[in-house]
Amino acid sequence: MTVALEYVCDDCARPFGLDRPETTCKACGGLLEVRYDLDALPRDFRERAAAGRPMAMWRWRALLPLPDGAVQVSLGEGDTPLLRCDRLAGQLGVGKLWLKNDAQMPTGSFKDRGFSLAVSMAVALGARRGLTYSSGNAGASLAAYAARANIDVVVLADYLCNPVKLAAIRAYGAHVFRVRSRSTAEVFKALEHLGSEAPYSFVNFLNPVRHEAMKTYAYEICEALGWRAPDVMVHPVGTGGGLYGAWKGFSELYELGWTETVPRMIGVQPSGCAPIVMAVADGASFAGPAGDPSATIAQSIAGGSPIKGGRRVLAAIRRSGGTAVAVSDDEIRRAMALVAGEGVLAEPSAAAPVAALGRCLAEGKIRPNEEVVCVITGSGLKQPTELASTVPAAPPLELNADAAEIAQALASVWPVAT
Ligand SMILES: [Zn+2]
Repeated sequence: MTVALEYVCDDCARPFGLDRPETTCKACGGLLEVRYDLDALPRDFRERAAAGRPMAMWRWRALLPLPDGAVQVSLGEGDTPLLRCDRLAGQLGVGKLWLKNDAQMPTGSFKDRGFSLAVSMAVALGARRGLTYSSGNAGASLAAYAARANIDVVVLADYLCNPVKLAAIRAYGAHVFRVRSRSTAEVFKALEHLGSEAPYSFVNFLNPVRHEAMKTYAYEICEALGWRAPDVMVHPVGTGGGLYGAWKGFSELYELGWTETVPRMIGVQPSGCAPIVMAVADGASFAGPAGDPSATIAQSIAGGSPIKGGRRVLAAIRRSGGTAVAVSDDEIRRAMALVAGEGVLAEPSAAAPVAALGRCLAEGKIRPNEEVVCVITGSGLKQPTELASTVPAAPPLELNADAAEIAQALASVWPVAT
């Protein structure tokens, strides 16, 4: 039984029923937020959720807005590992470091949490057609869940969307168009003017439930830590749905009395395209367009025009006592190599949080004795060219299938003691 009550507009506080496929506020165009009655949660909910592991993310269904009785469109998302990385923590000078590895999700990115919920919601509300705009990961995730639910979707792919992500979107069977515009603001403006015949929107935040699923990060992390929150969570920020949703989840756990603190949320963006970082530095509550999305290898977070001025993500950062940090492509490449050293392949955007740690420590934004969770939001396999750029340019030496040659090669790696 869900304890979700209704949507409430961020701007005019007008309520809307959860039983309609709403996107934004009909009165003022503001973003809709789901409101819950946390007091109505059964007392044994936490224990029952712990026992429900095969359901993964859907163990927390009572804290998600899907109507009771509606079908869950699932590919087994959630319950990704929280990996303790003592060696990497030592290298970076962090007290304790965990990687929340969402690269292990069904389509290789954290977006699957949001689309499992949003597609389930769309099906429950009778929406048979959907649309999103994506640099790649969200498009692939929507395409996969739409295939699973047998609904028809169009993905408007950003001009930077790489061939691997594009192929995945098409393989799952979505209709794909590439958008020529280099301005995300221009694209969002066009989407707002599609009119009343527009299909159900899956664009982050314009869709009012996608970010709700990101609360499950917080539930899984705090559960794994014995119902304790880390000191800091570091998350890459494009539209900011991941960071905002996680913060909402941590805040709910605090309100429920399951944890005693809420982590400081640190957002990370590429230095060539960092409107949220600039707004945080200026103490602003609204982030205007800034930067060039093509100026970085971190495609998934190269968003130059925050949706609705990034107000939600800025508020989450401020209210948690956190901050935002920009990192260079060189720092990101080094972080990709460091994370690979822990057995995890991260795409550039996903390595950005680890890239930010050095700077955060140097600037006192993270103290050396603190416990930090970095989220790995997407697999390195999704940007193979950039993955290859983190290793030496020279290809591996070639060998014949010859014992002497192989022995010689082994001796070059492990010299025989003389
Ligand atoms: Zn409103």
